[in-house]
Amino acid sequence: MTKWVYGFGGGSADGSASDRELLGGKGANLAEMCNLGLPVPPGFTITTEVCTAYYANGRTLPDGLNGQVDAALAAMGEIAGGRFGDPQKLMLVSVRSGSRASMPGMMDTVLNLGLNDETVAALAAASGDERFAYDSYRRFIQMYSDVVLGVDHENFEEILEDAKAEYGFEQDTDLSAAQWQDVIGRYNAKIEQELGAPFPQDAREQLWGAINAVFASWMNPRAITYRRLHDIPESWGTAVNVQAMVFGNMGDSSATGVAFTRNPSTGENALYGEFLVNAQGEDVVAGIRTPQNITEEARVAAGSDKPSLQKLMPDAFKTLTEIAGRLEAHYRDMQDLEFTIERGKLWMLQTRSGKRTAKSALRIAAEMSGEGLITNREAVLRIEPASLDQLLHPTIDPNARRDIIGSGLPASPGAATGEIVFTSDEAEEAKAQNRDVILVRVETSPEDIHGMHAAQGILTTRGGMTSHAAVVARGMGKPCVSGAGGLRVDYRTGTLLAMGVTLRKGDIITIDGGTGQVLKGAVPMLQPELSGDFASIMGWADEARRMKVRANAETPADARMARSFGAEGIGLCRTEHMFFDGERIVAMREMILADTEAGRRSALAKLLPMQRSDFLELFEIMAGLPVTIRLLDPPLHEFLPHSDEEIAEVAAAMDVSAEKLRQRTETLHEFNPMLGHRGCRLAVSYPEIAEMQARAIFEAAAEAGKRTGSPVVPEVMVPLVGLKEELDYVKKRIDDVAETVMKEAGSRFDYLVGTMIELPRAALRAGLIAEAAEFFSFGTNDLTQTTYGISRDDASSFLETYRQKGLIEKDPFVSIDVDGVGELVRMAAEKGRGTRPDIKLGICGEHGGDPASVEFCESVGLDYVSCSPFRVPIARLAAAQAAARAEGI
Ligand code: ADP
Ligand code: MG
Ligand code: MG
Repeated sequence: MTKWVYGFGGGSADGSASDRELLGGKGANLAEMCNLGLPVPPGFTITTEVCTAYYANGRTLPDGLNGQVDAALAAMGEIAGGRFGDPQKLMLVSVRSGSRASMPGMMDTVLNLGLNDETVAALAAASGDERFAYDSYRRFIQMYSDVVLGVDHENFEEILEDAKAEYGFEQDTDLSAAQWQDVIGRYNAKIEQELGAPFPQDAREQLWGAINAVFASWMNPRAITYRRLHDIPESWGTAVNVQAMVFGNMGDSSATGVAFTRNPSTGENALYGEFLVNAQGEDVVAGIRTPQNITEEARVAAGSDKPSLQKLMPDAFKTLTEIAGRLEAHYRDMQDLEFTIERGKLWMLQTRSGKRTAKSALRIAAEMSGEGLITNREAVLRIEPASLDQLLHPTIDPNARRDIIGSGLPASPGAATGEIVFTSDEAEEAKAQNRDVILVRVETSPEDIHGMHAAQGILTTRGGMTSHAAVVARGMGKPCVSGAGGLRVDYRTGTLLAMGVTLRKGDIITIDGGTGQVLKGAVPMLQPELSGDFASIMGWADEARRMKVRANAETPADARMARSFGAEGIGLCRTEHMFFDGERIVAMREMILADTEAGRRSALAKLLPMQRSDFLELFEIMAGLPVTIRLLDPPLHEFLPHSDEEIAEVAAAMDVSAEKLRQRTETLHEFNPMLGHRGCRLAVSYPEIAEMQARAIFEAAAEAGKRTGSPVVPEVMVPLVGLKEELDYVKKRIDDVAETVMKEAGSRFDYLVGTMIELPRAALRAGLIAEAAEFFSFGTNDLTQTTYGISRDDASSFLETYRQKGLIEKDPFVSIDVDGVGELVRMAAEKGRGTRPDIKLGICGEHGGDPASVEFCESVGLDYVSCSPFRVPIARLAAAQAAARAEGI
């Protein structure tokens, strides 16, 4: 019979940390902590296989589970010294979900399960604390009704608020046992009214209700959205953990808290966390009361007058510190801990690798490597390449004038400016219209994930450093200020009241997630400094890396930025971008609209010096590095004049009538320009264009070589080749120009001629094309369009539908379609190498900056990837990780 249930507790466990797939992250780590002999309340985990079986059998649980759960309940009762459902030997439990990856979209934990009208009295007697017992019961009713019975928690909050107002209290902790009993009565009435049935009194009915609810929550919309955003497969399923309760709400010697073994914002090697006295479960992160600091040092730094755990409960603090150290050394990574102190005794309830900002991830990895806990290579593998994006976020210029209208906690670094919106749906709408917004909420919940994604930054008026907003924003790399208590959000009127100023939806604010400040209006920003830990890790990455990383750049500014980010050349310089400026566009239009070769040549003669000086500057910046220049690629109509004014200007320059010009533009009209007269087809029709560009490139290369002493090797790239004959034809023109320029200059220089592989035919005929091409650059944007027969500009709407309906996992324009487009790349690379073993192979589509695609490029053995300048560090790290993994670390 299948083992569905894995027990843990009393110094041992059926499972261990390596059973993550089966037990989920929480269950596997609870087992591991038991195996390490740490104080963990006993319990058991129902495996993820049960979740799979549950869905395979139309949402029913497998036979035999019942018996295994009974046995596990009895075993944990032995350890805990209680019996589930027995008022004489009361044992209450929590029911906790837990999938392989941490998933905030899942069912919330139910605490104090097993309480009913009878056992609550037993709990009061056993603990000698009536207030505690009824507080626990009302919490249980609230949680269970909300997550299992579907009676919204707002019902209960309303009742509690009313009751507190009647009693004249502010805090939940002010209520007496009798008052809680009164509140419980009102809760029960509400439940009867909503459900037409009383709150379930039977402990086993409660337990199975909660277990079923956890499995059902795997398919709730929140969980589905979260999985989609984080690429978590549906097939994984969740486990359910049932664990004996320990109580942080048993008076002033009890507490509950969360801690990180190192600071998740800064990476500093110091225990960091928050706790609340006389509280339970999620109270700390829910932002109901303002939590206290764990260490004295943090308390002083935060300027808090509430005592630290270190001061208040020194014994528990000491144990926590020791356990934190042990767990970090054991897992060899920064841990995120959840704990509860029951009458002075510390209990561990969770450990997992802690989420952290990119900045702290770098510091932690670099320092752990320095401490000898991990190797340099492991440090490189610890950094999520995409997270480097966070470091490339701007920060507020320290010299900028700051119009401060409020402040909160620096919950997630980086600064952001945008319009105020108050709901996640508004944030999403604005994003669709390309407007930057700051999502302003009292607090966020898992229902706000889509809005947080859409916003530039998040501002909340309630909640600590471990509130939902703070944790999720850090994970997303979004700037966040949380708990800005001086601000008042009024959803009803759509206003934000800040130090006497009333701001409305649509007003611009700036938040500084590094300091917690909230500023009015937009503020000048600074680009980040890429030294220190970043430089160390990138240095180690470069040691591990095999592929080169180049940038797609055509302007001097981009080229400089690319170099500062470590680009090792330019993989794609798109020449057409150079033709849009001022007088150039007029000459360009003149060239396109000329109807004779002589006319074109005269316009090209005007463009030549401009093009040459562009290349010269680029080559000087890239001294000594390879630069790939793509000949004119887009359909010519993109350059054509549209307004009467523009037409008149070009007509004057060409000395023809506006009417004649209009006719000529009409003859250039194409039905499907992306598949029309573009790429090398232009060079075949009008070789003089390619010749001018080649001349500009070679003259600039010769000159730059003289000036800098380290010549670039220009790589002239012919786009959109499908036939070898096309490449032959254009290459001959380029080679002839090179000869001429060398003669004129009286010196020789190196250059390469190659092609983009961006048509399926080119991939199929790559063996033959390689006879002419000295390099291939995979243009995977067009290759994806032409392989799928999908226009990228029109695809986003229906590809999103495909994704939602599960037909595709990822947008193939974002991450390379390994099976289709990738197959063509792999085949072309092999054929190309077959013909020309030393052929240079690279990729220059957007995919060059996507970590998964970079990994694919490594597997094909490409020589380099090229991506936009600000993604260069991401590509460097991704390439290093791919190489390390390929070598088996
Ligand atoms: P999440 O996955 O949302 O963090 P958890 O299952 O970890 O949910 O539960 C949240 C909190 O509930 C824990 O951090 C802990 O404070 C409390 N909790 C869970 N189980 C127990 C228990 N057996 N005894 C006491 N508190 C518990
Ligand atoms: Mg939680
Ligand atoms: Mg937890």
